[in-house]
Amino acid sequence: MNTTTPPLPFDVIILGAGINGCGIASELSGAGLRVVVLEKNTIGSGTSSKSSRLIHGGLRYLETFEIGLVHEALRDRQELLETYPEIVSVKPFYLPVYRSSPRWGITIWAGLKLYDVLAGRRNVLKSKRIKRSDFQTIAPRLKQENLTAVFRYYDAKTNDLLLTQKVGGDAVNRGAVIHQFVTITRINNNEREFRVFSNRGIFTAPILINATGPWIDEVNTQYSLPARYHIRKISGIHIIVEGCLTADLMFMQTAEKRIFFIIPEPENHHTIIGTTEREETGATDAVRVQPEDVDYLLTQLNMYLDDNNQVSPDEIKSSYIGVRPLIARKDNPTDLSREYRLDRHQIGATTLIHVFGGKLTTFLSLARKVRKLIPK
Ligand SMILES: Cc1cc2nc3c(=O)[nH]c(=O)nc-3n(C[C@H](O)[C@H](O)[C@H](O)COP(=O)(O)OP(=O)(O)OC[C@H]3O[C@@H](n4cnc5c(N)ncnc54)[C@H](O)[C@@H]3O)c2cc1C
Repeated sequence: MNTTTPPLPFDVIILGAGINGCGIASELSGAGLRVVVLEKNTIGSGTSSKSSRLIHGGLRYLETFEIGLVHEALRDRQELLETYPEIVSVKPFYLPVYRSSPRWGITIWAGLKLYDVLAGRRNVLKSKRIKRSDFQTIAPRLKQENLTAVFRYYDAKTNDLLLTQKVGGDAVNRGAVIHQFVTITRINNNEREFRVFSNRGIFTAPILINATGPWIDEVNTQYSLPARYHIRKISGIHIIVEGCLTADLMFMQTAEKRIFFIIPEPENHHTIIGTTEREETGATDAVRVQPEDVDYLLTQLNMYLDDNNQVSPDEIKSSYIGVRPLIARKDNPTDLSREYRLDRHQIGATTLIHVFGGKLTTFLSLARKVRKLIPK
């Protein structure tokens, strides 16, 4: 990435080089604007490398009637499959329903059919109910007794860090400058331009975009930036175990109606299992994996593994944690909307845009909407 002294002035300063900061930088530099991205750590080091790595519409969000979000994400899924075929690929997902599952097979079938319809002509392949004998071949380590139905649908998977680095690279190829390891000390606004003071110099531009994901509230407070929204920070962990527990991805349900994924990565000889939901009230930088979240995931996983195939704690190779920046509402964490909000402020001749929320999957649509908010 370009680390030379900044040519001054820029048209746009973006704070944060996660998937959204990089996506916006690529979109705006493609439109001919001079863009600089200031990242306090490295590209993609925040939430954009701590996800479940799914490029998906979000089947679960149909339950909370987030039809618009699912539709947009399915459209972006198709575009990402076409634009980044080396990093985003279609995968079959299996959804086993057991006698004890909190959702009925018929409800799941109806949800999958709606998911197929929302994907429309762009649908990768349609969902279907499959034979239990086929499931046994794909997931021999999972319990086979008390299965009432198994469904298969298709979504996409990526490597989130590589995708973010690729999008950041595209932005640089279009002329953007990305500075990593930047410490911002102060942000001023004199109604003609923003001035961002940092260890890498003073950056000036009439447009400032805050794409700092789960750090957004802390950044707004620290630099006294006006904002209409706040976030709730909901962390989620993943554990990684040696070898592939299943041949394909599994969409599992917990007794309390949460879902978790079993995500085999044969290319890395391991399986990722996630995720959890915990509200974080302290500083985002201080968020750490908690032993009880690891225990919770392992317990959920072992409930579905055959008695002879249980995973023990010492088989966990590693774990990681990310923080979802979700628009603050009173709902419980599982029901909080995954929708994003763009919050635009005109201050004299300057424009400030905050990005609140935003999934990995929807960064293309989000970046295009930001572009529409930029004054001509
Ligand atoms: C557990 C979990 C699972 C998920 N799974 C999926 C999934 O499967 N599919 C999906 O589509 N989405 C998923 N998501 C959501 C998705 O990962 C995030 O919404 C998305 O990555 C947010 O990107 P971002 O660019 O807004 O934030 P981030 O990636 O967090 O980027 C913000 C950047 O700002 C930087 N920053 C912070 N403060 C400053 C500062 N003062 N100065 C400069 N830079 C600063 C940070 O270092 C960081 O790099 C998941 C999220 C979590 C937590």
